[in-house]
Amino acid sequence: MLKINQLHKSYPIGDSSLHVLKGIDLEVETGEMVAIMGSSGSGKSTLLNIIGMLDEADSGDYILDGVPIKNLNEKKAAIYRNKFLGFIFQSFNLINYKNALENVALPLYYQGLKRKERLEKGKFHLQKVGLLDWAHHLPSELSGGQKQRIAIARALAADPKLLLADEPTGALDTKTSYEIMEFLQQLNDEGKTILIVTHEEDIAEMCKRVVRLRDGVIEEDKKVNQVRASQYV
Ligand code: ADP
Ligand code: MG
Repeated sequence: MLKINQLHKSYPIGDSSLHVLKGIDLEVETGEMVAIMGSSGSGKSTLLNIIGMLDEADSGDYILDGVPIKNLNEKKAAIYRNKFLGFIFQSFNLINYKNALENVALPLYYQGLKRKERLEKGKFHLQKVGLLDWAHHLPSELSGGQKQRIAIARALAADPKLLLADEPTGALDTKTSYEIMEFLQQLNDEGKTILIVTHEEDIAEMCKRVVRLRDGVIEEDKKVNQVRASQYV
């Protein structure tokens, strides 16, 4: 699915620069569910943004679904992003003045689908996250967990090969976090490849593999022997 080789990234800070990623090697196969862990500032989001083609590395190789991702112009990058990737963020990033269904259907606009098809597909995905009854509600009328489900439905709408989530449970209470993780586990069981940035151990243990970043390199990369089930009661 993706292969990263000796990836480096620095940010300019005044006259000097901050070397955030110092030679990352990472391979992810189709069907994996991987947690990317590390303390705050360790470069998790930087790595995920490069994987998500929202940012570019300074050096190193990145191959996504067989396509070398390097020096793509903005238009090409947007096409690959739309085709391959779905994003979920801590703060949901829903459009406040659009209702749940319109939010979910939005990415389909960029795929050139007609309004009727967009809304039909949008409803299908709302149904999938259990929120069809909330189709015409605005984000402000939804709970945090519901907002994140809408965001997941939106991320899935264009049927991406890879789902990228940056602290998807960071703004949610424990019970709701586990519900969201359980839903992501279900998607992974159905075959979706998922990368999740988190700094919470219990969330990472709900993934099948944990990659730990520290001081700009991967300090540990291990399979989770007993994947944690959601255990709220
Ligand atoms: P994490 O997601 O693990 O908390 P980030 O990848 O967001 O870490 O950030 C890693 C480091 O890079 C932090 O020290 C952060 O301040 C810095 N950083 C992130 N983005 C930028 C940017 N656009 N410009 C300058 N520094 C940045
Ligand atoms: Mg981050």
